[in-house]
Amino acid sequence: MKFRNIKFAALITLLPLFVFTNSHAEPTDRNEHYETPVLVVGIMVDQFRYDYIYRYWNHYGEDGFKRLIGEGFSFDNANFDYAPTFTGPGHASVYTGTTPAVHGIIGNSWFLKDTGGRTYVTGDSDVSTVGSDSDEGEMSPKWMLSTSISDELRLHTNMKSKAIGIALKDRGAILPAGFTGQAYWFDYTEIKMISSSFYMNELPDWVNEFNARDLPAQYVSEPWETLLPIESYTESIEDDNPYEGRFRGQDRPVFPHNLPAYADSSDNGIFANTPFGDTYTFEMAYAAIEGEELGRDEYTDLLAVSFSSPDHIGHRYGPASKEVQDTYIRFDREIARFLNYLDENFGTENVLVFLTSDHGAAHNPEYLRDLGLPTGNYNRSETEDFLEEQLTEIYGFNPVRTLRSTQLFLDHDAIRANGVRAEHVQRDAAEILISVNGVAGALTADALRSGTFTDTVNQRIQRGYNPSRSGDVIYWVEPQWFTSGRSIGTTHGAPWSYDTRAPLIWYGWDIPAGNSTLPVGISDIASTVANFINIPYTTGNTGQPMNHIIYGKK
Ligand SMILES: [Zn+2]
Repeated sequence: MKFRNIKFAALITLLPLFVFTNSHAEPTDRNEHYETPVLVVGIMVDQFRYDYIYRYWNHYGEDGFKRLIGEGFSFDNANFDYAPTFTGPGHASVYTGTTPAVHGIIGNSWFLKDTGGRTYVTGDSDVSTVGSDSDEGEMSPKWMLSTSISDELRLHTNMKSKAIGIALKDRGAILPAGFTGQAYWFDYTEIKMISSSFYMNELPDWVNEFNARDLPAQYVSEPWETLLPIESYTESIEDDNPYEGRFRGQDRPVFPHNLPAYADSSDNGIFANTPFGDTYTFEMAYAAIEGEELGRDEYTDLLAVSFSSPDHIGHRYGPASKEVQDTYIRFDREIARFLNYLDENFGTENVLVFLTSDHGAAHNPEYLRDLGLPTGNYNRSETEDFLEEQLTEIYGFNPVRTLRSTQLFLDHDAIRANGVRAEHVQRDAAEILISVNGVAGALTADALRSGTFTDTVNQRIQRGYNPSRSGDVIYWVEPQWFTSGRSIGTTHGAPWSYDTRAPLIWYGWDIPAGNSTLPVGISDIASTVANFINIPYTTGNTGQPMNHIIYGKK
């Protein structure tokens, strides 16, 4: 053990109850022990597809992804066990151990059935920004219906443990930190890390000091060039191609990306669309560990750090791009540095790390079309018109309220007034939707509430359905079809494997080296952490822990 705090090292010798592991003993089931790691680090990489580990393998160093795979335990068949696969539901599901059906985070934003308005997943106008003058801090986890593991850890130790969420995206920090942790996210207008009055009245000194370093100004002072010679990036397509987006003012989407030319004094935030957004987030994580003295006493702390930039980059350039390749090659160097830091400061055996993502991503549909692969663009507004027309013909009135995010919301007042049964309209609407080109399936609210499904996709749809928040019919489109009409870069949200399959690697503590292709769900992570650190499951937990698989037990 390498504790900097000598007093604390002396203290633990007097308190034999709090014994830390000090060597890699024979792997045992931690359920049998009181020992817990000093720090749990949850790393989420936004839009990280599982295949990126192996696609760019030859460019990785020895201490990053190769160390995680070689010394950690990898679940090679981990999937988001619900749809839609978006950032809000992803972060909520990892940290609450359940799915949108229970935690209620059914999207990044959703239609409000009672008011007809729209909510943002972490929007909360009852709280105010802490740390800047913008409204980007008017955020809280108020829409989340379950505790997160941050909350359970804090409750378990009578609030002695610390739990900190960090991300550029507000939702990537807030949902993991839960209701009782601290969350910090990036203000994209004022270019600094902020929080909200939900969590605190003022920023701690270490956050002010971090902001005072003004790292964004450094990141946009030079062009973004590939870390390694671009000719060596043979795993991705031509740099100059028609499938990618550009920075404002940029001619072609190619390296070097001349950041100083695209950033003026008010737009240093463009670094968030480059791998330097990851560097920034790591710097904030180091600052949090030091500033909050995480892992320095007998109470296990939790650091939930989420990397938002890979999602920004992925959306703009797509999975086949040189930009995404460079992002992960650079992330590999950053994760290596971070793992070395954890080892030097705490000892790898005293820290439990898990790494996963919040969703995957599709390929660019035009790129696939050009290669002759199945893909397509479905048109939402045409579908809505068609649906209204057909249902009006059947019922003599228009029962459609709105079609949003692959959900149909019916006008229940009109349906009641016309003496029609809502279940009948739902069933007819589902039939009509299925007849639309590109729609793969549709399930009615009635079926989702009462049915038992054996098909994986149907199950994912059902776990993403929340009775009080979701619509009357949920539908989804064929693999690699986009609902957004997007033809540049990529997107995600589908129940298909390219969006649901995620890396899931456990590392440190007494995790043995290994891997498994047993199917596990992303909502299984939280209860696994809970078992490692002997705390209760979250209030809404429905996931199944995977500790026994890691230790090769039945
Ligand atoms: Zn995204």
